[in-house]
Amino acid sequence: MSEAATETIARRGLLLVLSSPSGGGKTSVGRALREADTNLHLSVSLTTRAARPGEADGVDYHFVDEPTFLRAIEANAMVEHAQVYAHRYGTPRAPVAQALDRGHDMLFDIDWQGTQQLRAALPGDVVSIYLLPPGMDELARRLAARAQDDAAVVARRMAQAASEITHWNEYDYVLVNSDFDATVAAARAILAAERLRRSRRTGLAPFVAALLGG
Ligand code: 5GP
Repeated sequence: MSEAATETIARRGLLLVLSSPSGGGKTSVGRALREADTNLHLSVSLTTRAARPGEADGVDYHFVDEPTFLRAIEANAMVEHAQVYAHRYGTPRAPVAQALDRGHDMLFDIDWQGTQQLRAALPGDVVSIYLLPPGMDELARRLAARAQDDAAVVARRMAQAASEITHWNEYDYVLVNSDFDATVAAARAILAAERLRRSRRTGLAPFVAALLGG
């Protein structure tokens, strides 16, 4: 079968989760994946934290206040939500369902709590990757270099990182992010293979039926 024929067979979308402790590289790796791939759409979460410099509402997050977040929970409008550090974060439900039906893939920058909930809600649709830092010193260096958060926030996130990392074995794939380009290449390979997984290729049965019938 030619590559072109493979591409045209209808399939369900997939939900690609990238998790790591803060500073672990998930945002940069996710950005690199999306730059090269027009069928990978970022899931834009709701959060109650304030925007950092350079972040835009509706692009990086939907920045909302606590009552708005609670109303979204009440309305069952989020497929998962969690408290991470001092703030609340959650994934809007509607874009996820739409992407799956349309054969579009979504990228999630969510923590281990959200990943567990997403997998429970949509088993079979989630492909999860955990990025490990090459060392804790390197993680501290990356967090300090980012310098968008104040020193107290950086210290708290370093303290959280060790407990976050204990969830590494709940993920489908684990990459040690010591070389950025190599990590992106590995994540692309995972995405390419998972797109070809038989269970999501809804067009295969009719394709084979036509193949044998014709
Ligand atoms: P940050 O405030 O640095 O953007 O994100 C802090 C943490 O919250 C990160 O680990 C990030 O992956 C996680 N996070 C961001 N959005 C969501 C979400 O919608 N749900 C969950 N469960 N975690 C999220």
